[in-house]
Amino acid sequence: MKLLNPVAEAWSQFDAPTREIFKATVQFFEKKGKRAMKHEDHECVWYRDYLNFLKERDVFYTFLTPVQYGDPAKCRWDSARNTAYSELLGFYSLSHWYAWQVSILGLGPIWMSPNEELKKKTASLLKAGGIFAFGLSEKEHGADLIASDMMLIPQGNGFVARGDKYYIGNGNEAALVSVFGKVQGSKEFVFFAVETNHPNYKCTQNVVRSQKYVAEFDLNDYPITDKEILLRGRAAWDASLATVAFAKFNLGLAAIGISTHSFYEAINHASKRKLYGTFVTDFPHIRGLFVEAYARLTAMRMFAYRAKDYMRVASESDRRYLLFNPMVKMKVTMQGEEVINLLWDVIAARGFEKDMYFESATRDIRMLPKLEGTAHVNMVLVIKFMNKYLFEKAILPEVAEQNGNANDSFLFNQGATTKGVENVVPGDFQKAYDSYSFPNLTIFKGQIESLRKFLKDCGPGKEQSRDLDFMLAVGEIFTLVAYGQLVLERARMEEAAASGQKRDEAEMAATGELLEEIFDFMIRDFSRHALTLYGKPSTTKEQARVCMEMIQKPEVNQARFDRVCSRVYALADTYRMSD
Ligand SMILES: Cc1cc2nc3c(=O)[nH]c(=O)nc-3n(C[C@H](O)[C@H](O)[C@H](O)COP(=O)(O)OP(=O)(O)OC[C@H]3O[C@@H](n4cnc5c(N)ncnc54)[C@H](O)[C@@H]3O)c2cc1C
Repeated sequence: MKLLNPVAEAWSQFDAPTREIFKATVQFFEKKGKRAMKHEDHECVWYRDYLNFLKERDVFYTFLTPVQYGDPAKCRWDSARNTAYSELLGFYSLSHWYAWQVSILGLGPIWMSPNEELKKKTASLLKAGGIFAFGLSEKEHGADLIASDMMLIPQGNGFVARGDKYYIGNGNEAALVSVFGKVQGSKEFVFFAVETNHPNYKCTQNVVRSQKYVAEFDLNDYPITDKEILLRGRAAWDASLATVAFAKFNLGLAAIGISTHSFYEAINHASKRKLYGTFVTDFPHIRGLFVEAYARLTAMRMFAYRAKDYMRVASESDRRYLLFNPMVKMKVTMQGEEVINLLWDVIAARGFEKDMYFESATRDIRMLPKLEGTAHVNMVLVIKFMNKYLFEKAILPEVAEQNGNANDSFLFNQGATTKGVENVVPGDFQKAYDSYSFPNLTIFKGQIESLRKFLKDCGPGKEQSRDLDFMLAVGEIFTLVAYGQLVLERARMEEAAASGQKRDEAEMAATGELLEEIFDFMIRDFSRHALTLYGKPSTTKEQARVCMEMIQKPEVNQARFDRVCSRVYALADTYRMSD
């Protein structure tokens, strides 16, 4: 899979209205140029021109209005184009991406609501260029929804809303904010919608120093009637989880966009820099850093684009997306941090300079694992699948690539998403692993067998299962298995697509060699996590012995590495943002 190069991209997988928006977005950012983008980032300028652009081009109206509420010629909730759009916005600016992301979150409970009048109003607000917000978090309670103290207080025929929300993106001027709270006097949860220009809505501060607006706001006896109520009781609770379950997917795509732009800057810089008569790119350690950064970045992209297919086919009987979406949020964003770390050792001092995208990337990449539930919270969700995934098989339909123009309506009808996921068998992961054969994959498959042995023969005892620190270490290892599955599936799909065209032998060999490099870092990560588990205080002797079996060395093949490296280096000067 190639990296995104926005100026070379044709977006040919999409229909004409979608392609036009993608191209116009690239033009918007390239015309503005890096110098202006960086200046506004440093000066924390609110992006009015960008919001005007979104309005003129009907961007949010087209991409974020389900087909039944908008112009059917272009409006639909289509996760294929939303996935690609998240990556594109992340590539140019995480602050700009954030206005899109929190609008998606804010729209979740609205499109899940039975309040038809409010849904129609939302569609017209989207058409008018409105942005949206998701009011879940509170200063004292983080994302602990049960402790929420935003209250609806019964008054007359309705309520007044009283309370404070914290960390709410777009809270300065969203057309509507979906607010989560409780009805006073009962334990009933509720989602209701408020307008930021209402006199009883008070935005008190931007809690971050940034171009994006992350608001603290108060509702001072804001009047609420049935017209503003979105969901009540169990449905409100489910909607909060269901919204995050699909929206957090975009965090991984933002990490891919950030890492890709940073990769271009690093390679453009290093390939021109000569020290002691040698190009920086010729130093052996720099070659290693670049190949690993590229392999990790490509794997991130392959995994996320494959996970998108599972999200699009999700249904009540196919809940595999509940395993893969948290991984896009957790694993892909954390891999983004690793890619930036690797590239930072290459770009070194230049990465701190104010005119570089990289300078913002080093700050922004840290944000993504922490939003919408921390990495730990997502790992807890992933671990629930572990036993069924590794020890049971289910015959589930093969999922083809999902780039069609469907409206992904199930995302707004997920119901109680997390209920009973322990019983979901995510198919048969061995199929993907059996579809290829190469040395590093064989080593990795041996590591998977050791993990199965660990769980079967000396799995976590009662105490260990309750110890999240121990289970997180087990989860890191398990996650690698599911990560590899989707990378292999994506590779197979790309090969199948290419075989319909004129088969380019050199390109096929390049893909195979890249997969070897991907499984090279996967083997090393597996070993690293096994060592962490080995060192946990409660690890038993027998567990420690199996952990040692998991520690393996990838196959050394210098000629292959050199060929991959020269392909990576050919990316120098293929993209540079206009100044
Ligand atoms: C820039 C920014 C923008 C944001 N935008 C929004 C927004 O638009 N709307 C919104 O509602 N929120 C928003 N948030 C809030 C964000 O979603 C929360 O910060 C995030 O969910 C983590 O909560 P917390 O920081 O309060 O961590 P805490 O909940 O305080 O967690 C502290 C630690 O405890 C661990 N922990 C907590 N619960 C569990 C658990 N159940 N299992 C295992 N470990 C656990 C965490 O992993 C973490 O290590 C934003 C935050 C930031 C920084």
